[in-house]
Amino acid sequence: MSTDTPTNASLFERAQRVIPGGVNSPVRAFRAVGGTPRFIQRALGPHIWDAEGKRYTDYIGSWGPMILGHGHPEVVEAVQKAALDGFSFGAPTEREIELAEAILGLVPSAEQVRLVSSGTEAGMSAIRLARGFTGRNRIIKFEGCYHGHADALLVKAGSGLATFGHPTSAGVPAEVVQHTLVLEYNNVEQIEQAFAAHGADIACVMIEPIAGNMNFVRASVPFMKRIRELCDQHGALFVFDEVMTGFRVALGSAQSVYAELIPGFRPDMSVFGKVIGGGMPLAAFAASREVMGKLAPLGPVYQAGTLSGNPVATACGLSTLRILQRPGFFEQLGQRTRALMDGFVKVAGEAGVPLTADSQGGMFGFFFADSLPQNYQQVMARGSDTFNRFFHLMLEQGVYLAPAMYEAGFVSAAHTEQDIADTVAAAAQAFRQL
Ligand SMILES: *Cc1c(COP(=O)(O)O)cnc(C)c1O
Repeated sequence: MSTDTPTNASLFERAQRVIPGGVNSPVRAFRAVGGTPRFIQRALGPHIWDAEGKRYTDYIGSWGPMILGHGHPEVVEAVQKAALDGFSFGAPTEREIELAEAILGLVPSAEQVRLVSSGTEAGMSAIRLARGFTGRNRIIKFEGCYHGHADALLVKAGSGLATFGHPTSAGVPAEVVQHTLVLEYNNVEQIEQAFAAHGADIACVMIEPIAGNMNFVRASVPFMKRIRELCDQHGALFVFDEVMTGFRVALGSAQSVYAELIPGFRPDMSVFGKVIGGGMPLAAFAASREVMGKLAPLGPVYQAGTLSGNPVATACGLSTLRILQRPGFFEQLGQRTRALMDGFVKVAGEAGVPLTADSQGGMFGFFFADSLPQNYQQVMARGSDTFNRFFHLMLEQGVYLAPAMYEAGFVSAAHTEQDIADTVAAAAQAFRQL
């Protein structure tokens, strides 16, 4: 390697001079696991290559969007074609209708959808709409769920149920989060108490139905059922944040998984991102015509965006959504992902390392523990030191897992059986060295 070929370390040093922490989103900095972030040069299929030419099998997939793997030829063609027709018009296009129709066709709980550019924007707008629709201020979220970095959502639990949350970020005034109540995930008693105390003031309950921002924790069926009942009784909206799970855990998203377990179940509003953009900046929120009718220009709830429904992003998202609707797509993706987790559990057992794992569709999580956690506190109690050592042992062997134990992982349709087998073999090696 010649001396002027940049290394990950030299790029990180240079980046830190001009970009805070050297990254444009904090988790990329490897702070949780330590070490030098890999600067990615290119990607193809299930693989990414760093600045030093080292190849990794990618289990992050840009944190979820790359469900087809990188550089799917049909998606690349759609994006190239759209780019030649123009980057942005600030005027409506037919492709926005096609994407809206595609989303609504797969999500029966929603009748209309508005496109935006990031999950944060979609979550923030969904909250505003829920408040505008109900005429109420208070919102409920759950500890360990991430809904983007809007001020009102950067909040952690207060000292008791009677108190509202505290900001988790500097720069967020206490007044801005005073209407946000943060409860324990999967705790039926707490949500009952919250509605008993504040029911008439609650605009919405927002949840990650399968929480991927605390690794992988499913909402239990009794918990989901009870929230649905309480929202109905008190006139609050039940909002599913499916930015991660949408078109990732099943063709009908996580809500279809719960609809199979709870007959007739549906959320009132859904938030999407990640997969629906196929790797381009695109997100959405969707609900009934009655709720969506409160949005400007029809109604009094203001929401807008210069690049919303961007023609290149919608081309990317639309071709991605079309491909994942092909017969057998999710069966195969689910099978590959399960094979990866079953493999991890098996080889960990052989190495005498306690490990549990879960997956749904193309999303997975594993824990160095004997049982699956049910809430954020239990996730955080499952030792990060072991994970961090495992992460680096895998990275050395060319397997790129999310650089923090509280993040979910993703398999793409481009991962072959051989890729999965190679990753399990690398894990076997890593478990023996832990
Ligand atoms: C990623 C994510 C968001 C935020 O989306 P951005 O596009 O990063 O703003 C919101 N909610 C969930 C569940 C997410 O996983």
